Amino acid sequence: MIASEVRALFAVAARPEVVSLAGGMPNIAALPLETVSAVMADLVTQQGVVALQYGSAQGVESLRESICEVMALEGVVGSSDDVVVTSGSQQALDLVAKIFLDPGDTVVTEAPTYVTAINTFAAYQARITHVPMDDNGVIPEALAETFARLSAEGHPAKLFYTVPTFQNPAGVTLSTTRRPEVLEACRRAGVLVLEDNPYGLLRYDGEPVRALRADAERAHDVIYLGSFSKTFAAGLRVGWALATTAVKDKLVLAAESAILSQSPFPQLAVDRYLRTQPWSDQIKVFREIYRERRDAMLDALTEYMPPGVTWTTPAGGFFVWATLSEGLDAKAMLPRATSARVAYVPGTGFYADDSGQANMRLSFCYPPPERIREGVRRLGDVITQ
Ligand code: PMP
Repeated sequence: MIASEVRALFAVAARPEVVSLAGGMPNIAALPLETVSAVMADLVTQQGVVALQYGSAQGVESLRESICEVMALEGVVGSSDDVVVTSGSQQALDLVAKIFLDPGDTVVTEAPTYVTAINTFAAYQARITHVPMDDNGVIPEALAETFARLSAEGHPAKLFYTVPTFQNPAGVTLSTTRRPEVLEACRRAGVLVLEDNPYGLLRYDGEPVRALRADAERAHDVIYLGSFSKTFAAGLRVGWALATTAVKDKLVLAAESAILSQSPFPQLAVDRYLRTQPWSDQIKVFREIYRERRDAMLDALTEYMPPGVTWTTPAGGFFVWATLSEGLDAKAMLPRATSARVAYVPGTGFYADDSGQANMRLSFCYPPPERIREGVRRLGDVITQ
């Protein structure tokens, strides 16, 4: 296990004079906190003996039913019996890795990919192989070639981990044309798909896409991970996995040995909130806020970046992925950036090899629009220098 570069950055990025384009913290201040407080108070008064008692490792049934309705918004059909509630989708990632990965097994991921997923797979001593993406997500031909090469080398891929929608860190989305091609490449190679979709409902423009798990014929090849961290409250740590019954049974066993029972309190709080409050209106509020911030970042990049810098244009989620001119090293530049009171995450952390030197992840979720503009202006100066 190695320390995440994002975590190490938090101390610097949290200084008030620094504009942090580094962390991916959701804008919790946009929640109606008094309403949330009332929901929680009612929960203790009306269901306290359940909420404060041990629960099951699979999670509260009524929440699992609500989760099925949430997944249906992105075309995913599943039974609440096959849902396992986890402590954020991060725990689901860990449990999947725990039940599937033996030391030396190969996990294929997008390049770049979610930093904590790399660390999770590495903790189970997996080998990680990356497949390139472009603006339409992972390239299916490259994926199929990678599977074939790995098999020929005697290290066949076991899992393909993907964040197909509003990817962290690249901000790109797998096109609808490519979705069946990716599933087909995995099916042919006998590789299980691990679809991680925490951002899917946070779309700011364009047409919604269906989750990979929504493909009825291939649904059994996909373990689907979801989360309330970005659409409600990250601090409650409520996420989930949807899998086949056989895989779900193993996930529950793994969860039992890890935590005995999921915490009933946050699960019941989320469920009560979903059932009693206009949650879809809350998502609209989040979308408006993040859209404005995304636009502020894209406009400021156009205005302040020197020639030679390029970046992705996300239709949702939290992140823009920037590429510097050849020869520039984003990690080496970071101390200069923090001296100039702006922080970002250098690209190298999002690769298991030493790629990503010329890249940086810029988050637009947390600072307000005018701070984002100021941060990008400072960053533009640092890059120019
Ligand atoms: N997957 C991805 C791609 C993420 O960006 C995050 C949050 N940064 C997670 C999983 C974990 O989310 P949580 O555990 O809060 O559900």
